[in-house]
Amino acid sequence: MSEIVLKPGRERSILKRHPWIFSGAIDKSADVDDDIVEVYASDGTWLARALWSPYSQIRARIMTWQFDEPIDMLFFRRRIAQALAMRIAHPAYNDANAMRIVHGESDLLPGLIIDRYGDFVSVQLLSRGIDARRDDIVAVIIDILKPRGIIERSDGDMRQLEGLPDNDGVLWGEAPPLSLTITHPTGLRETLDLDSGQKTGGYLDQALNRVALAAYANDADVLDCFCYNGGFSVALALGGARSITAVDASGPALVALQNDMQLNGATSTPLEVVEADVFKLLRHYRDEDRLFDIIILDPPKFAHSQAQVDRATRGYKDINLLAMKLLRPGGLLATYSCSGLVSADLFQKVIFGAAIDAHRDVQIIERHTQAPDHPVLLSFPEGEYLKGLVCRVW
Ligand code: SAH
Repeated sequence: MSEIVLKPGRERSILKRHPWIFSGAIDKSADVDDDIVEVYASDGTWLARALWSPYSQIRARIMTWQFDEPIDMLFFRRRIAQALAMRIAHPAYNDANAMRIVHGESDLLPGLIIDRYGDFVSVQLLSRGIDARRDDIVAVIIDILKPRGIIERSDGDMRQLEGLPDNDGVLWGEAPPLSLTITHPTGLRETLDLDSGQKTGGYLDQALNRVALAAYANDADVLDCFCYNGGFSVALALGGARSITAVDASGPALVALQNDMQLNGATSTPLEVVEADVFKLLRHYRDEDRLFDIIILDPPKFAHSQAQVDRATRGYKDINLLAMKLLRPGGLLATYSCSGLVSADLFQKVIFGAAIDAHRDVQIIERHTQAPDHPVLLSFPEGEYLKGLVCRVW
């Protein structure tokens, strides 16, 4: 067991139960030989127990504030079971077969993401300490979730910052089928490729927003931008849309979308799929004077670091401005940002800027957020990353 002492005053965020300890908060370089560290305030008070990350600016992630709670297999068992119980207790989720079971810091398990996709489980191990405990975590998942197979999708920015290589593949049990059909809590079905699909397979965070937006779909010409497998397209087609135009840069996603339309019995709505760059296609449609009643903008994360926030806001403004110009008066823009670094307040300002430049009056009629299987812990506001504005554009 190792010990670290915080600089005077730097215990403040810890006392408010924020789980991250940045390298600059630690007094003199600690001699850490075990990845479990005891965290002390400068006055010698024990504060918390954390997992050490020697390479990341987030040098340690707090796992417990309880002195008598060791970080062992039972610890993971308790936390994962508690996270699962919270999902099962939710009315929308108690018989869904696809949901996020553990949402990292927000479920008091920093660095760990666990998603259930039917009989398969997809995990992301995003910190050194969590990566080192993969065997314990796998054993707990087998025991509690009883999957047919566990697949790892540990890739992306966070692993790099931890100095960890990407690690993808089957961790235990059977490999999932190339095309796995899951049922969202809304009853909508989606086919996913857990192995090479995006994120840990699909976008569970948008599950409820798709159906909320579908309430406005009747008779609408819909443009679904960044559609991926067409979660929004399926919901709005079933909601009575007159036509759907679905756009994504990924060809395989568009194939899955057409399949999912059939799977959900949404084939009577005329569908056009377009493999294109949304930034270019919106300009093309503007030049062609095409008009729609509902436009969805659900782009990938634009800001991966603070340095990218300005560029991200320019990207959001660009597509939102173009989309507003393509809407008939009174049409709806459902616009999302999943960049955690772009706050809800900043995002709304960007949409305001777009409305000014588009010379349109814009009313917010709904605010969307991530689904309840992606909870937000009050002490960790960074966990709130998805924001959406459903706007009436005059
Ligand atoms: N709306 C989807 C999720 C979208 S994820 C849902 O509800 O499930 C973002 C998508 O944007 C990905 O499918 C990715 O392939 C696509 N994408 C990223 N950059 C793009 C671009 N410039 N033009 C078109 N699609 C893009």
